[in-house]
Amino acid sequence: MKKLVIGNWKMNPATLEEAKEIARKTRHVVAGLAHTDVVACPPFVYIPAIASQRDSDLLEIGAQSVSFEEGGPHTGEVSAAMLRDMGVKYVIAGHSEERTKGDTDEIVSKRVNAIVSVGMSAVLCVGENERDEGGVYLEKLKQQIKGSLANIPANKAKNIVLAYEPVWAIGAKEAMPADQIREMALFVRKVFSDVFSADQALKATVLYGGSVNFRNAAEIISVGQVDGLLVGRESVNMPGFTELLKAVDSI
Ligand code: PEP
Repeated sequence: MKKLVIGNWKMNPATLEEAKEIARKTRHVVAGLAHTDVVACPPFVYIPAIASQRDSDLLEIGAQSVSFEEGGPHTGEVSAAMLRDMGVKYVIAGHSEERTKGDTDEIVSKRVNAIVSVGMSAVLCVGENERDEGGVYLEKLKQQIKGSLANIPANKAKNIVLAYEPVWAIGAKEAMPADQIREMALFVRKVFSDVFSADQALKATVLYGGSVNFRNAAEIISVGQVDGLLVGRESVNMPGFTELLKAVDSI
């Protein structure tokens, strides 16, 4: 199976010209990869310009959030169908930065439902805020995953990418150690299997996110045994992202 690297650009870069340049450069690197699919999640406003650039098929486009409403009086919101019509294939749901602003598991599950209902893939972010000796964080994480997947029809399990992102490792100095990532990826897959089925869990794509860079990416995939990465800061830093993609592709 090909590895999957998703870049979450967050609220970057500052201008459309820079955004187009990052996308162009990313496609240039992707053209030389054999074993890795790459997705860029720019801010909403840059999506149409990036999706219509040359060689658009080299880079899938994702979005960073979506409304769970279909349309109507929801000022400032963007619907799943609107994103799909712009060529978006993946949408992030439940990112910790959105959970901090008020997204509950129930809201996240509604977003996931809206995304998969129109045929796109949901990149469901889950992860503990902090760890404790007694392992309470594992129970909380299990509840978070189950709550975020509530009411998702079983035939949509294939449209869900699980991104395990320990919140304390996002925007931090160091990623989680790769051997711990391996344990947590297994745990996340097991909970997915409880919600859907063992077969769907085996087929599911599990990513790790949190301070991934060109130095640690290959080890996280090979030792951490994940199917790919959700990359924040390094995805808009082209020298680093170029090296990261090459390292991942060469595993
Ligand atoms: C993220 O925001 O999902 C993320 C993983 O960020 P960073 O790579 O910058 O830690």
